[in-house]
Amino acid sequence: MDDTTLRGQLKKARQRIAELEADLEHAAEATCEDRYHLVFENAPGGMAIITEEGQILLSNAEAKRFLGLSEQDGDQNAETFYVNVNDRNRLLALLRDQQLIRNFPVPMRRLDGTPMWASLSARSIDYGGIRANLISFTDITEHREALRRLELDEIRFEKLYALSEMTQHSESDILDFALEAITEVTGSEIGYIYRLNEDESVLTLHAWSKGVMGQCTLKDVPEIYHLQDTGLWGEPVRLRRPVLTNDYPGLTDKRGYPEGHIPVRNHLGVPVFDEDRIVLLAGVGNKPGDFTEDDVRHMELIMNGTWRIVQRRRSRAELSAAHAELEEKVRRRTDRLQQVNRELAGLNLELMKKDSEREQARTELMRYQRIIETNPDLISLIDGDYRYVIVNQSYTRIFGLARESIVGQPVGILFGTQAFEEQFRPAIDRALEGETLTEATWLHLPDQGERYMSITYQPVKVEGDDTDYVSFEARDMTDLKRSEEDLKAIAERLDLATDAAHLGIWEWDLRTDDLLWDHKMFDLYQAEPMPSRELFDYWRSCIHPDDLAATEYQLARSIETKEPLYLEFRIVRPDGVTRHIRLEGLVQVDDKGMPIRLIGISMDVTEQRKMEDELRTLASTDPLTGASNRRQFMSRLSEEFERCKRYNTSLVLLSLDIDHFKRINDTFGHPAGDDVLKELVALCRSTLRTTDLFGRVGGEEFQAALTQTRIGAGENTAERLRRRVERCEVKTHGETITFTISIGVTALRPEDGSIEGLLKRADDALYQAKRNGRNRVMVL
Ligand code: GH3
Ligand code: MG
Ligand code: MG
Repeated sequence: MDDTTLRGQLKKARQRIAELEADLEHAAEATCEDRYHLVFENAPGGMAIITEEGQILLSNAEAKRFLGLSEQDGDQNAETFYVNVNDRNRLLALLRDQQLIRNFPVPMRRLDGTPMWASLSARSIDYGGIRANLISFTDITEHREALRRLELDEIRFEKLYALSEMTQHSESDILDFALEAITEVTGSEIGYIYRLNEDESVLTLHAWSKGVMGQCTLKDVPEIYHLQDTGLWGEPVRLRRPVLTNDYPGLTDKRGYPEGHIPVRNHLGVPVFDEDRIVLLAGVGNKPGDFTEDDVRHMELIMNGTWRIVQRRRSRAELSAAHAELEEKVRRRTDRLQQVNRELAGLNLELMKKDSEREQARTELMRYQRIIETNPDLISLIDGDYRYVIVNQSYTRIFGLARESIVGQPVGILFGTQAFEEQFRPAIDRALEGETLTEATWLHLPDQGERYMSITYQPVKVEGDDTDYVSFEARDMTDLKRSEEDLKAIAERLDLATDAAHLGIWEWDLRTDDLLWDHKMFDLYQAEPMPSRELFDYWRSCIHPDDLAATEYQLARSIETKEPLYLEFRIVRPDGVTRHIRLEGLVQVDDKGMPIRLIGISMDVTEQRKMEDELRTLASTDPLTGASNRRQFMSRLSEEFERCKRYNTSLVLLSLDIDHFKRINDTFGHPAGDDVLKELVALCRSTLRTTDLFGRVGGEEFQAALTQTRIGAGENTAERLRRRVERCEVKTHGETITFTISIGVTALRPEDGSIEGLLKRADDALYQAKRNGRNRVMVL
């Protein structure tokens, strides 16, 4: 081998080594890059590198899945995904300013248009010489939805609460309020309420929600519909249940709507029942998403609540109308009586004047005659043969006959034989026997028809005459009788009204302590009738011992201030059943202003209370787990906080969150996840004391406030709870699920001025527990 070939080979070998080394370096770089790529591609969150102009330089698999991007969509501009471009502009401004932003919640839209919520974090980077932003994001759509549901429960509670305060408003105001409430709570753009007639065949518009007016260009919208002419929106009445339609345009056999009507995308109608009868039809439509069973529930609760309030208002209005009518009649009757009295007094005066005239004439007989003659009553003298001996002028005036044609005739000729035989003759006989008697009866008078007359028969002896006479004096009482009957009719109608409203009426005389009850009151108390003297003590004995003191206090106060009385208390009936009674009363005073009487009404409001209690529970608890909801927990925590500050007692707050709950949902399904939540609540309940506060404050986040507890004991409780959860197996849907929780623990400190600091510390502690590996308790 010569020298040149050797050198040549050496040179070649060196070259080869250099080549190989270069390759190796390349290879090393390549594996390193592969690894980053692997991590980037498989990161559980979405990641993308996007230029300020919105060009997507790089995106991982999760980002593509999340945004609905396929490989070909790479040149989509990032702006497309924002529901509101301003969100992106705000984000970019922040990034320029701070280089880094964390957990920025934004409403976004996938490429196919489906809406979602994302939480964005971003950092600005130099990407191979280009200024770009590295964005990472997580899908928080479900989380936002769970929050929204909690928020809705709260809104509904507020609406119901506001409604329950509205009994003093007009019925129309109450319905208006309910209408805006259902529209808001269901997140709808439009809403309406129709009233139904007695046989549910005709619908009359109460109102459209405010939102409709601006959108509808229809002129002369009919206000009245026959049920048979209604399309889809009449279905809830026909089917007698809520009807939910999420794809109106896709419906095949619909009737459609007139031109100018707002285009309907979706619709939810709910019938409102009064016992078995549908009284209202409430509907909402054009919700941005789909209507759900939750919307049905919210709407039913609000509308049923509304109807209760309307009914309560109606029975109150009916009662006061009946009262007013009664008072008016009594006033009129009093006026009339006073007038009659005045006339009588005038008559007496006149008689007296005439008396003196006659005294001047000194003719006793004439005097009597004159009195009799001028008297407006029918006055006559009848002999033992039942014939008229004397009749006064009223006879000639009323019967249109000359005196001569009456005197000497039998009594029957004027009033008929039947009246004579049945009424006059027996009475005249008794008077002839020496008895004085008065009878009231209806008599038929010419030109005046039936008149109610009070007749007095009196035996008359005339000196020097052996014959017996009877004086007959008939006075017209028709007006008095009529007003008496009117009063009776009103009393009966009042009875009817109170019966319909299930109202009892009572009257308590303060001077005698007598208490009067109508039959309805006895029904309410299931009591047997008893003397009014004993009734007040009986009433006291029925009141629930816990309510007695407050009831008596308010009663006394009302008498003292003379202000109207409004009371509510429980009674225990003889059958042992407890009922809620509502009582309203008015104090009556004498002309010196001294209270003399209390009158009022009572009604049984047990069902109403029950419903209100149920509503309150529904509004303050989370429907899935039955735990207090966020609102309820926070308000009770605030109260507890104030108490601790005032009495200087200790308090420990636990903030707990299920570890990797998303995975549980993904692996076993949402319903199984729900069961895990329920099981966790059960475990918390049995671990905590009844005096501790506990609530679901987020999707799978809970908080507990341990009262009168120091930090050490609080930590022990948290640890015990953590271990119990760790050992627990949830058997559901054919699976056995185990899970863990992380807990942040903190105690109330003297420097805590509000609950905010306390809550923040508990959350920070929870965050640390998560960062340190989960399934652990951290104290701060
Ligand atoms: P970490 O350990 O960090 O807490 O992880 P995580 O997955 O538990 O946390 P994250 O907050 O990301 O997920 C919470 C999930 O809880 C998201 C949501 O789908 C789910 N969730 C919220 N409310 C409900 C609910 O009522 N039922 C069910 N099944 N899941 C819910
Ligand atoms: Mg979690
Ligand atoms: Mg969470």
